[in-house]
Amino acid sequence: MVYFLSDMDRKVLLNKLLPLAREVGVSTELRGWSWAQEPLKPLYDAQLPMYLVCSKYCPTGRDIFLKLVKKVSPKPNYALGQGKLIHGAISDSILAFVNGQGTQFDAWWSRVRAPEIPMLDDQMRQFASAIWDYTVNSCKVQHDGLAMQQPFASPRDVMATSVPFLVEHKVSGELLGLSGILSPDCYDYLRKIVFDVKVMEPCEAPQWMRLYATGYAIVLESIHEVPVDIGCTVFISRNGPTPQIKRDLFFINEDMRRWWVEERDAKQECVAQKKDPGMPDSCPESCIYWEHCH
Ligand code: SF4
Repeated sequence: MVYFLSDMDRKVLLNKLLPLAREVGVSTELRGWSWAQEPLKPLYDAQLPMYLVCSKYCPTGRDIFLKLVKKVSPKPNYALGQGKLIHGAISDSILAFVNGQGTQFDAWWSRVRAPEIPMLDDQMRQFASAIWDYTVNSCKVQHDGLAMQQPFASPRDVMATSVPFLVEHKVSGELLGLSGILSPDCYDYLRKIVFDVKVMEPCEAPQWMRLYATGYAIVLESIHEVPVDIGCTVFISRNGPTPQIKRDLFFINEDMRRWWVEERDAKQECVAQKKDPGMPDSCPESCIYWEHCH
């Protein structure tokens, strides 16, 4: 399952990242619970969605101006639709397993008709089906393995410790100048790891993809007041019939936290002061605002 770490991931987590986090640490001013003081204290009242704070698809950040100031509706493209579909397949299959609903993929697929996913095709169906089956089967292996090791554990204990994930649970980012209904892709509440899923080739991924997990970690710290030191971006790509999954596990260090605060401040200023950041020298043709800007 996309949120269960591989043997290699576990080695990196246990032998590199956790020792590093314990040794280096993070200063209190950059922990989410310090939201009332600088630098985390929001400078404006504007409440932003996390995906717009962290996104750097538009080199000048004009997308946030168009979305929140000009109220422009973006035009969904294939990649966006596929991303939403795979996010839905992951979260709904986990919830179906945890809730014991026994929901089958075909029943789920027949209900997928969100307007943001305008172009459903056979390749998308095959991709989503493979992710669904992989997720359910992995959960079952973990669950049954733990149940065999702990015969006196209650069913709830077994489920809560074998699949320890809050998936797309709603949290408020209002203390940090963010939306009141954020949805981190996944939070492993036993290991305190924030997961963020990206449907793309890992080799194409820029460093700023880590901003999403960083931002959600700071939000979780602001709410629960416990340290969240590890982020993980999960890259899922479609190469033939078997999806590829690669995880980028990282320590959410002070540099990442400062970078996230800079992005939040710049984008809050753009929205609060209604400042159009202008056009970059070149725009990716896949931009969902392409038709509006060109
Ligand atoms: S089309 Fe260009 S300027 Fe407009 S939002 Fe996209 S990347 Fe930014």
